[in-house]
Amino acid sequence: YTGKETNDVISLKANNLLVKDVQSLPIVITCDTSIYDAIVKMFLEDVGTLYVIEKDKSLQGVLSRKDLLKGTMSFNDIENTAVTTVMSRKPNITMCYPDDSLLYAAKQLIDRQIDSLPVVSENKGILEVVGRITKTNITKVFVNLME
Ligand code: ADP
Repeated sequence: YTGKETNDVISLKANNLLVKDVQSLPIVITCDTSIYDAIVKMFLEDVGTLYVIEKDKSLQGVLSRKDLLKGTMSFNDIENTAVTTVMSRKPNITMCYPDDSLLYAAKQLIDRQIDSLPVVSENKGILEVVGRITKTNITKVFVNLME
């Protein structure tokens, strides 16, 4: 393949891929979770981003590794400090829908310089988290297309 042909092959296939075809399960915590418990959860679940939800399941925030590092530097008692103090909040959350194209989601990750996007779905006026799109996710698709 020349670079051009490779691009054509990838774009042809990538244009038909939707977020819902490749999304993985979201790992969520509630707003009252402590920074300490969130760190434990991140290790146990082996993810780089946690999504923060209300009891009604609506998406409230995004919590990355760096947010948690910042939390441990800023607070003495992380067992009694809620993740809401360090998470990125609504309405500044970049998200996507199951029917969005994967290409759109990938561009968002690049443009916003973030590692993951929550996939949301509207349910009774509430934006519920139903999945996540990550750089790992997209890299796997890329490998599948190329093989
Ligand atoms: P890390 O902090 O581990 O490098 P990211 O690059 O994903 O991970 O996160 C960088 C910052 O962007 C963090 O403050 C995080 O809360 C925020 N962030 C991550 N994903 C999103 C998103 N989908 N929408 C809004 N902010 C986000």
